[in-house]
Amino acid sequence: MDQIVLEHVTKSFTTKTLGTVVAVKDFNLSIKKGECFSFLGPSGCGKTTTLRMIAGFEDLSEGSIYLGGKLVSDRNKNIYLPPERRELGMVFQAFAVWPHLNVFENVAFPLKVKHLPSAQIKARVSEALRHCNLDGLENAFPSNLSGGQQQRIALARAIVVNPDVMLLDEPLSNLDPHLRESMRFEIKRLQRQFGFTIIFVTHDQAEAMALSDRMLVMDMGSIQQIGTPQELYQRPVNRFVHSFLGQSNFTDVVIKDSRAFLPNDMSTPIFDSVSAPLQGNAVMATRPNDISLNRTQGYKAKITKRTFKTDFVEYMVNAQGQALVIQTPHRNLFQAGEDCFLSISQPAWYEKENSAELKERERRNTI
Ligand code: ADP
Ligand code: MG
Repeated sequence: MDQIVLEHVTKSFTTKTLGTVVAVKDFNLSIKKGECFSFLGPSGCGKTTTLRMIAGFEDLSEGSIYLGGKLVSDRNKNIYLPPERRELGMVFQAFAVWPHLNVFENVAFPLKVKHLPSAQIKARVSEALRHCNLDGLENAFPSNLSGGQQQRIALARAIVVNPDVMLLDEPLSNLDPHLRESMRFEIKRLQRQFGFTIIFVTHDQAEAMALSDRMLVMDMGSIQQIGTPQELYQRPVNRFVHSFLGQSNFTDVVIKDSRAFLPNDMSTPIFDSVSAPLQGNAVMATRPNDISLNRTQGYKAKITKRTFKTDFVEYMVNAQGQALVIQTPHRNLFQAGEDCFLSISQPAWYEKENSAELKERERRNTI
């Protein structure tokens, strides 16, 4: 069953200084019950706005939203269900705990709003605290607790209502890396236990890939691609998605009759069987471990730098004035300054990004 459905959802903001920004553009999306789904994209791409519309904190400029099969927001039919009636749990980026309430009172708050009997509140809060490893801290105040504990209060307050859907807006971004990892694990554990549907918003690709069943990558208000982490990593539909997931080299090339040349060397192709229907200026995208180095054949280049990493050796290579990063196993080592030959497997090919796109991206990031 589809738990969350967005149809043609659009949201524009108009401000005096900046004119109209289309924060979310024609979003179409279905998320299944029990799925852990991530929104990934750079700052300003519309992630929070989308989440706020699903939660009911923001009306729509166009389109409709269904939760559990029920129409909750529809611009044309003038339907709008307020947030407290949407059966959602939410955790937002900043530690959204109330400093003047102790841990128990913070977590009990959503149940008090619903006027549940106090014995029931007590039982449910204790259970939520236990699940978030906060038992024993009922009477503590947030200011006396660590960042991780404060974020767990927010998590406990979200699960205490037994939500069908959990909306998490960069909930881990204020935590140090070690804590992030263990909170990620906690979130997955709670999801397995309670079976809620999760939308997890992040600009951190590793986090999205580790947590999600499926995810989407968005840019400037539009969905670029929806799929499993593996599909998006292995078969990105465009340069933006490619650049957002994992490390890559983007090399300027000129394509002529299915052969790709570096602009400074139109005599020898760097790759001679381009699969994409492109001609002229284009971009070749390679993952650092899709290029291998050898001393006898391939495209001539020079090692400029070598760095030992724990699991591989990383080289910086200069090929006709363009820098490429290459990662190889710890054998057949090359020295900095040495000549080498490159062979590239399975590059991806993209058109060059045009300047209008670059300008729009800059404009949104300065708002
Ligand atoms: P993200 O969460 O991906 O960083 P947001 O959804 O917060 O992005 O913002 C998307 C775009 O909408 C940005 O350009 C932002 O400046 C704009 N925006 C968001 N909220 C408002 C608002 N209340 N008024 C005007 N512009 C807004
Ligand atoms: Mg945001």
